[in-house]
Order: sequence, then C-alpha cells, then structure tokens
Amino acid sequence: MLLVRGGHVIIDTGTILKDAAICIENETIKEFGSWTEMQSKYPAANVIGDGTSLVMPGLIDAHSHGRGLSPIQKGVLYDYLENAFLDWSAMVYLPNDLCSALSAVRHLRGGCTTIHHTGWNDEGPKALEQARQAINSYRETGIRLAYSPAVRDRNRFCIDEGDFLKTLPAELHDFVLPMTRYDARAIADGYLDLFETLHREEDTPMSRVLHGPSWAHGSTDEFFTRIRDSANSHGGTPIHIHTLQTPHQRAWSIKTFGCSLVEHLDRIGLLGPNTTLGHAVWLSEKDIDLIAERGASTTHHGSCNLHVRNGISPVWYMMRKGINVALGIDDKSLNDDDDVLMELRMSAMLSRVPGFDLAEMPPLTSGQILSMGTTNAARTLGFEQNHGTLQVGAAADLAVMETGSMLHDPWTSENLSIPDLLLWRGKGQDVRDVIVNGRIVIRDRKFQTIDVEGLYGEIRSYVKHHETKAATPERISALAKLRPYFHDWHRKMLDHLDISEPFYLVNGRH
Ligand SMILES: [Zn+2]
Repeated sequence: MLLVRGGHVIIDTGTILKDAAICIENETIKEFGSWTEMQSKYPAANVIGDGTSLVMPGLIDAHSHGRGLSPIQKGVLYDYLENAFLDWSAMVYLPNDLCSALSAVRHLRGGCTTIHHTGWNDEGPKALEQARQAINSYRETGIRLAYSPAVRDRNRFCIDEGDFLKTLPAELHDFVLPMTRYDARAIADGYLDLFETLHREEDTPMSRVLHGPSWAHGSTDEFFTRIRDSANSHGGTPIHIHTLQTPHQRAWSIKTFGCSLVEHLDRIGLLGPNTTLGHAVWLSEKDIDLIAERGASTTHHGSCNLHVRNGISPVWYMMRKGINVALGIDDKSLNDDDDVLMELRMSAMLSRVPGFDLAEMPPLTSGQILSMGTTNAARTLGFEQNHGTLQVGAAADLAVMETGSMLHDPWTSENLSIPDLLLWRGKGQDVRDVIVNGRIVIRDRKFQTIDVEGLYGEIRSYVKHHETKAATPERISALAKLRPYFHDWHRKMLDHLDISEPFYLVNGRH
C-alpha cells in the first residue's frame, strides 16, 4: 500500500482536494481522502509527498517520435518543415534503444507518465527488431507507451515528387530519382505485417499498439483502406495521421482530389472517433465542422508548429466546436527539453490570439488546457478508460511536485485555483516524484528504474563516433545544389491556394 500526500491534490480538473492523500494498491487508485483519514486508515503504508506537495495526474504526450536528441543538439537549427527535411537527412541519428530511453527520461522527469511514439524508421528488414528495441527501452524506464509504427507509401521525398523530378537538371535528377523509386505495395505489406506482429506481442495495458500511417498526403488510398480495415478488425484501433501540417499539403490535396485532405480522409472512411489528426494547422472551417461531426480528434504541437514555421493550429475554434484536442510535443518543445507543462502553457498562450472581441472570444480555461495533456490525450491513444485522472479505479500514474517556486516565491494569492496556478507557474523541473502504474519511477528526483548517467555516457560515446559519418560530403553538396529547385517547387505550389483569410488575426497590413 502506498499513500501519496499533497497539500493540494488534483483528482481531475474539476476536483481539487486540500491536505489529502491518494491510496494506491498495486497498479490502481484504491481511494482518496483527507490526509488525517488516510493516515489513520493505513498507518503502515509507505508515504510519498508531504503537506506542501502538489499531486497531479501523470501528463500524457499524445504525439512524439522518441528521437531523443533534438536537431538543435545535433547542430541543426529549425527552419520551414520542407527545408528541415533536407537538413535532417544529413544529421546523426541514435539507435532506437538510446533514442527511446532518452525521450522517456525527458518526459518522466517533467511528470509525463505516458508517451505516444509514432515511428520514423519502421521499414526494411530490421523494422521489427528496431521497433522491439524501442518498445523494450521504453519499458525499462517504466513509462507507459503508445506505439504506432509509421511509413509512407507515396510522396516520400517531397509533395508531388514525380512532377518535382521533371524540374531538375540531369545531375540533380539522378541524385533524387532513387529516393522516389519504391514499391508502394511492398511498403504497405511490410507495415501491416509489422503492425500485426507488434499488436499481437506488445499490445498490453502498459504499451498500446496503434496505427500510424505517417502523413495523410504520404499514404495511398489503397494503403489507407487496408489500415481502416485492420483497425476495424481489432475493434477500432486508434489511427494517428499527420495531417495538413503545411499549406503545401493543403494545396496538393486540392490539386489531387479536388477537396481538402480531411474531406478526402472522410470519403475513404478514415475519419471517425478512433482517428487523430496530428498538427491540423491548415484546416478550413468546413474541415473543422467535419472533424467535429465525425468525433475525430486532433493533436496540438504548439512549439513544434512554431519551430518548423507551420503556423498556428486553430485550436480555439476546434475546442469551441467540441473537438477533442490533445497535446503533442513532437520532439520539438519550447525549451528543447520535452517539458509537457511548458507545452500546455504554450497551448494556453496560443489560444489567446483568436481575435479582438472583448466579450465573445474568451481564452480557453486552465481546465480545458490541462485536459489536453491528460484526459483528451488519453482518449486519442485508446487509454480513455481510467487514465488522465486520479479517480478511484484509475491507473496509478501521477506526479508529485514541489510548490516552492509555484506558490511561495515569496507569496501567491489563494484567489486563483490550483489548475490556474499550475498552468501559469508550474514547471517540469518542479516534479520530484513520479509513479507509473503504481511503480515508483522517480523518487526525490532520482530514477529508480534505469541508470541515467550510464545512458548519457552511451549517447555521448555513440555521437562521438558517428556524428561526422551521418552524411558524405557529396550528399551534403548535392542537397545544397538541390535547395533552390526545392524552394521554387514549393513556392509554385501555393500559387492557386487562397490562404488570405486566417482564423487568428494577429496584425494588419493596412
Ligand atoms: Zn510528428
């Protein structure tokens, strides 16, 4: 039996207790009540936290890729997503086990107890081995996991890659051509085999296996149809798809299908309550209505969208329509450290810019924002039952925070609610203890599950030997020569797209 005590305990965003404790038995919350009552009922229980702590449900990152080190750490600054693709193709990548362990450490230490890893290298003969490596590595850290293998069976090099090739001089054409030649059918077959194996072997209460067909514009209709059928055959497996991250993706969809990507997904039966659209920045009003009507979700990656200059997702409008919007970090956070609390604050900030009507456009509430990183996120990952709250019967995933800087630096009024103060003053670095599935993963800021210094040593040693081998000088030179053609291609793509009227008004030219 374990008691977790706090001066403030957030059971869910509507239920906040003062000087209370949660009682954990095995993997679940057995009960909660006042500290005096819990202490007298369970005098022999171990106790974590004290009368000054803040106890909250473990946070959930509904969209990341578990890449460990960030591009910035690898010496590459962020740029427009399309430019970044060229830049990232020449940087060092850690093996899966090191990536996943580092991502888990960064999430856990900030109070995030569940991560969704959507894949980035789930192809080829080593795909299964690499996925298992990642999953095992997460498991060792103690984090709860949703894992979605991800591949693309079209538009792999860039949007409309066949036509892009025609714009290139011979030397560059020959450089790009091999990257646009692949067997779409074989990629889809390999993906579905991989998904079925992982689902059979790894889909447990600690590691859900979801469908993650990369991009909406990177999947053929045939592939999507097979994914839809597979999800249905497993009783509605969640399907997570990067969708309309850039205006170029919207332009391609209108050119190719004569409608928006969201409408196209709906036509082929991919838009339902088990679908989550990652990013969802370049939606139309009609798209938002359709997503709401179908009960689909989106994930909001506020800092990531700014880092790669995608724009701002119209989250305020989606929430007003009742769409389930969840938080995703996507490996690109404000402080480059995967701090979920900081990202929730970023979401709150971005929801403050929809317009200038003093009465009709209130910002989202702290409860709405915190739900994005708890219950809303749980729902997108198929964890909606008993996750994201500390109600009786819920999974025992929670974080204990010190409140010195949040409440006593040197004084904070009690007029505001604890969710308000957590959202506007809390930081991942305030987290002291973390429990996942009833297991103490971090105690007094020390990992109880893995040797973090040992992991850091392995990562330093790996990059020391591999950093300069990530790309040949010939490849780096070819990528540089390609860049102006790549820019031209993407510039022309937007010629016929009307993006003159934004959802969010932030300034005016006249
Ligand atoms: Zn992503």
